[in-house]
Formats: sequence, C-alpha cells, structure tokens
Amino acid sequence: MEMDESVEICNKARVMLEELGVIDKSFVTATSLYSRRRDRISTGSKSFDDLLGGGLETKAVTEVYGEFGTGKTQLCHTLCVMVQQSRLAGGLDAKALYIDTENTFRPERIVSIAEARGFDPRKSLENVIVAKAYNSAHQELIIEEAGAVIEDNSIRLIVVDSAVAHYRAEFLGRATLSERQQRLNKFMHILVRIAETYEVAVVLTNQIQASPDAYFGDTVRPTGGNVVAHTSTYRIHLKRSGKNRIARMVDSPYHAEREILFTLTDRGISDVNEGR
Ligand code: ATP
Ligand code: MG
Repeated sequence: MEMDESVEICNKARVMLEELGVIDKSFVTATSLYSRRRDRISTGSKSFDDLLGGGLETKAVTEVYGEFGTGKTQLCHTLCVMVQQSRLAGGLDAKALYIDTENTFRPERIVSIAEARGFDPRKSLENVIVAKAYNSAHQELIIEEAGAVIEDNSIRLIVVDSAVAHYRAEFLGRATLSERQQRLNKFMHILVRIAETYEVAVVLTNQIQASPDAYFGDTVRPTGGNVVAHTSTYRIHLKRSGKNRIARMVDSPYHAEREILFTLTDRGISDVNEGR
C-alpha cells in the first residue's frame, strides 16, 4: 500500500471514531473539557479531599512521596476502603487493585479501617485485589496484564506501593541509571494510559532519599527523579508535624501550592479534629 493511501485510511478511521464518540476530537473547546467532570475518591479526610479538589481524581496519576512513616501506605489502605463506598459516601461503588512491592499490604488494616468507619469488613476485603510484585520485571508484567483484571472486576482505583522501590534496589550505580530511568519511564507511561483508558484513579507512592544521593546531588528528592515527577499529574508531599502529618500539593497544573494537616487513626487518614 502506498504511504498516502494508508494515511488517508487512517484519517477516515479517525473521523469515524470521532463521530461515534469512541475517541476525542482533535480539537475541542475548553468548555467541553470542563463539563467532563472527573469522578473522585475520598481520602477519608475532608481537608485532604479539599487539597485534592474534592478527592483523588480518576483518569490521573497521583504521586505521594515522603519519608518513612508519614502515612503513604495508610493513605493507600484508606483509599481501598473508600472507593468501595457509594458516591454519597465518597466512593465510586467500585473495587481496588493493590500492587504491593514492599510487602506492606495488610488485610488486617483494611478490616480495622472498615470497622472504624462502620463498613462491613468482610465485603471490604473481598473488594481489594492484591498483586504482589517480586521484582521490577514482575511489577511491569502485572501492570501490562492489569487491563483484563480491571474490566472483569469494575476496578476504579489502582495503588502502586511503592512504584520505585524495586528499581531503586535493582539498579545500583551510575552505570545503570539510564536503563533504570528508561524502564521506569515505560512503567509510568503504561500507568497513565491505563488511568485514561479505564477511567481509574492511580495512586503511587515514592520514597524520599534519606542520604545525599549520588545521582542527583539532592537530599530531599523523591526517588525516580524526573521520570516519575513529570509523568504524574499530581504530586503530594507528606511530612511529619508532631503527632500529625502535613500534606502539601506540589507541582499541580491547577491547584495552588498549599498544605493541610491530617492525622493517622484507626479510621486510616482522618481530619485532625475528628475524635479518635
Ligand atoms: P514507608 O516509607 O516506610 O513505607 P509510609 O509512609 O508508608 O512509610 P505508613 O506505613 O503509611 O508509612 O505509616 C505508618 C504510620 O501509621 C505509623 O506512624 C503508625 O503509627 C501509623 N498507624 C498505623 N496504623 C495505625 C492505627 N491503627 N492508628 C493510628 N496510627 C496508625
Ligand atoms: Mg509504606
């Protein structure tokens, strides 16, 4: 087939798909984009939801980074319980897929968060599908095969806790840096595509380098460098503040850079003034 001919066929197909509403038109007004409100999942805390503009956004990738013990994994667990609730109660009547790379997923925590919030713990467990990733290649395999699982189970939330730990452990030294970044880049782009295609919310966690980092020469940078930062739609930095925690919105395309206070309780992520 001639080049021109194949381009013409592609264009015709594109126009047909646009007319059928299967794909977006190449040019749309901002009004039409604005009217397509995205579904959101409550984090379990009113202030944290406000920081996110109403909750964790679907069709987007949100990166949560911070030091150990700042509540990244707690947030992931809380979201898994919240996504299952009705829309009125902050959920999407849907299930969660939890990709666990650090072996920190705890079913007991799903039970305790659900119980503390007055939800059925057994049902809450049933609606979280867990995939343990043993290394970075396995993590990539899981995400490549996730499409079928998402469709079969009406999943609206994907958790990757943590996205970078395996890469960080496996690719040591400067010589392997470019390969590591290429692999992470591919992984991140698959996540973005899945978020868009299946209209799911993706939340991924990222550690903060504890010691001065040889690659970037910076002490408080999330690992994964630019690759993870540039591919995520939203980035939240978690910090300690005494018994409480601070969540700061960083680099959002439209949120103001501000921070809120939250706390960790039996209910998972909670507002500070909420009774324990
Ligand atoms: P890492 O980088 O090590 O993975 P993380 O940011 O994922 O750290 P989490 O495991 O989310 O950290 O948070 C641990 C914190 O959560 C601890 O300070 C712990 O006290 C608190 N926590 C866990 N369960 C409860 C609970 N039931 N009630 C109150 N706080 C809790
Ligand atoms: Mg954790």
